Amino acid sequence: MRTVYLDHNATTRIDPAVVEAMLPFLGESFGNPSSHHAFGEAAFSAVRKARRQVQTLIGAASDSEIVFTSGGTESDNTALLSALAALAPRNEIIVSAVEHPAVLTLCERLEAEGRARVHRIPVDRCGRIDVAAYEDALCERTAVVSFMWANNETGTLFPVETLAEKAQAAGALFHTDAVQATGRVPIRVEETAISMMSLSAHKIAGPKGIGALYVRRKTPFHPLILGGRQERNRRGGTENVPAIVGFGEAAERAASRLESEAARMKALRDRLERGLLGTIPGARVNGDPTARLANTCNIAFEDVDGDGLLALLAREGIACSSGSACSAGAMQPSHVLQAMAVPASHLGGAVRLSLGRDNDDSDIDHVLAVLPPLVTRLRQPAGTRKVARAG
Ligand code: PLP
Repeated sequence: MRTVYLDHNATTRIDPAVVEAMLPFLGESFGNPSSHHAFGEAAFSAVRKARRQVQTLIGAASDSEIVFTSGGTESDNTALLSALAALAPRNEIIVSAVEHPAVLTLCERLEAEGRARVHRIPVDRCGRIDVAAYEDALCERTAVVSFMWANNETGTLFPVETLAEKAQAAGALFHTDAVQATGRVPIRVEETAISMMSLSAHKIAGPKGIGALYVRRKTPFHPLILGGRQERNRRGGTENVPAIVGFGEAAERAASRLESEAARMKALRDRLERGLLGTIPGARVNGDPTARLANTCNIAFEDVDGDGLLALLAREGIACSSGSACSAGAMQPSHVLQAMAVPASHLGGAVRLSLGRDNDDSDIDHVLAVLPPLVTRLRQPAGTRKVARAG
């Protein structure tokens, strides 16, 4: 059976060249970067090379601004907790209502423990941030603002550069979760007022369980993981050298094909959307029509069970998602789509199709042939559905 993977916002296939780069560090190059002998030095220089590759991808001023972590989730947690500790007695956090659970769940915990006051800034029907509400919430008690660069469910892009300037003017730190934006939109972080930025390797054809937190120089910082003096005292624990090397290689490759891939993704995604909107009545695209990741299509079908559609698509070999992969299994409507006030008629019928490097026109043809009849089938009353299938 033909399979089509359209879940690149959940994770991506590791690039074989990335595996190739990692292999020596799973074998003969096993040294600890902290060791002062040839084995250690080989590992140390491999980590340094990867740090520079990640630095280049995001346009940071120095490789010392890159702190390797276990991924986007740890980076998000570290950024918020560090800011709260560093800027005390400031104890307020501003986030958007559509952040990833890595940010929102932490905020819930901090609130429940009485450690912070959290402002959740609403978005409009296209997922755009309410700037006036943000400005109202910003004050001398704000420790940190955390707005994601690109939304994982809809691909909507926030204007983080201007949002960061407002935080800076209020004396607060600005963190952005750029896990979905990295390698997909150009980032020159040095030219912005962003203090901290979360990255993850597995969204850019790198290995899982490795990421980074960009920490602008001179940003006050409190580590989350305490231990040895690794990562310039900012994250204890022996570095995951093979994964770091893989992340570096993936970052370099993502940087070199960013522009061409973004144009290719947009052409494929737009054809997919046009095809679905043109053949399926009651379909709507969720997200900003223009400021959106080129690879992401979040589309909702009126009066359709999105999870049922997902299951039927899976049987046809088409892999996609009904929301964020991190909340898959939870049958509640997506908090992102709820925040966007997606009408009740469409809320349960959303699927996310996220494209990547391996997709081409034939994949789009396949989805356009398979998906519309499945929606028609799901819209038929349960009794007649059986008859239609048997016939
Ligand atoms: N932030 C966003 C926007 C994401 O999409 C994800 C993963 O889905 C994460 C954070 C978590 O990253 P990781 O899987 O590396 O912990």
